[in-house]
Amino acid sequence: MSLDKKLVETFRVNGYRVTPQRITITQMILKSREHPTAEQLYEQVVKIHPTISLSTIYNTLKILKGINILNEISHNDMRRFDANPNPHVNLVCEICGKITDVEEPALYDLLEQVTNQQIFTITNNHINVYGMCKYCKK
Ligand SMILES: [Zn+2]
Ligand SMILES: [Zn+2]
Repeated sequence: MSLDKKLVETFRVNGYRVTPQRITITQMILKSREHPTAEQLYEQVVKIHPTISLSTIYNTLKILKGINILNEISHNDMRRFDANPNPHVNLVCEICGKITDVEEPALYDLLEQVTNQQIFTITNNHINVYGMCKYCKK
């Protein structure tokens, strides 16, 4: 099944209407590793769908969060969105706000160990670590 068809399925199964705008928003957030805000995403999507409103973006992000396609990172009054489905560490720079993904195989093992011990089902496998990036440290 293509990604588009899978997305359409996911929306339908969960009882949501599928619109070209929702599909574009979802494709863009899935492609991005920049952890964009809703506003940043809007600036991208509006190039393809000039009539789209910011509330459509908010709405769609809320749906995607609800069906566990997205995670939200709140930092300094900013809400950022993360669509990387793999377990990873988000290195959040507290100065410039840049968020870098670090995918470390040892993390998979650690999460499996920890959750097996507690018989726990993970719904968000991202770990946020805060500090200063190399550019801000200079
Ligand atoms: Zn920084
Ligand atoms: Zn991330």
